[in-house]
Amino acid sequence: MAVETTKKRKGTALLAVMNENCTSCAGSPLCEVHCPVEGCINLLYEEVPQGGLKPYRVWVDNDKCIGCQMCYSDDLTKIHQHKETGEIYYEYDGRFYDSSKKPVDPAAMPKKFQLQLIGTESEDRLDKKICPWDAIRMYEYEEGLEVSKYFYNPEKIKKVQGLDVIDEEEKERLEKAQAEGLT
Ligand code: SF4
Ligand code: SF4
Repeated sequence: MAVETTKKRKGTALLAVMNENCTSCAGSPLCEVHCPVEGCINLLYEEVPQGGLKPYRVWVDNDKCIGCQMCYSDDLTKIHQHKETGEIYYEYDGRFYDSSKKPVDPAAMPKKFQLQLIGTESEDRLDKKICPWDAIRMYEYEEGLEVSKYFYNPEKIKKVQGLDVIDEEEKERLEKAQAEGLT
C-alpha cells in the first residue's frame, strides 16, 4: 500500500468520487463515456439473492483517475500541450485558443495526435453537470481516497464472467458505512 500512495500520479490534484446517488444510469454509465482514461470509471454489479447480477453503481479506479473533471461537467476549458514544442492550447466549446487565450486559426492548429490533455479549468462555470443524479464529487486527492471508501473498495470487488461484482455482504457493509459515517 505504501508503494501505491507514494508513486507519482498523473494529472491534477483532484479525484472523482461517485457517491450513493449513483444509479449506474441503468447499466449505461453516462460519466464513463466522458472519461478519457480507459478503465477508470467501471460499472459495478451486485449479486442478487435469487441468483444473477444487476448493475449497482460505478466505481472509480483511484490509481487511474487524473482528476480532469470531464465526467463532472461539460462546461470546462480543456488544457492541451503540444508533445514536441510544449506549447499550451486551450479548448472550450470546440474552439481552440493559444496561451494568451487568443483564438487559433484552425489552419495553424497542430494535429490531434500531437496534443496531450494535461488538465482542465473550470473558472466557476460548473453548471453543466454530466451526472443526471448529481452523484459525482471532485475532491483533493487524499480526501477523495478516504471518501471513496464509503462507496467502493476495490479489494472487495471480484470478477464474475469478466464483470466487476460485489456480493450482498459487501453491499450491506457499504450501505451501513454510508448511513453511519464509518468505513
Ligand atoms: S452519470 Fe451519475 S448516475 Fe450515471 S453512472 Fe455516472 S455517477 Fe452514476
Ligand atoms: S476526473 Fe477525469 S479521469 Fe477521473 S473519472 Fe472523471 S473523467 Fe475520468
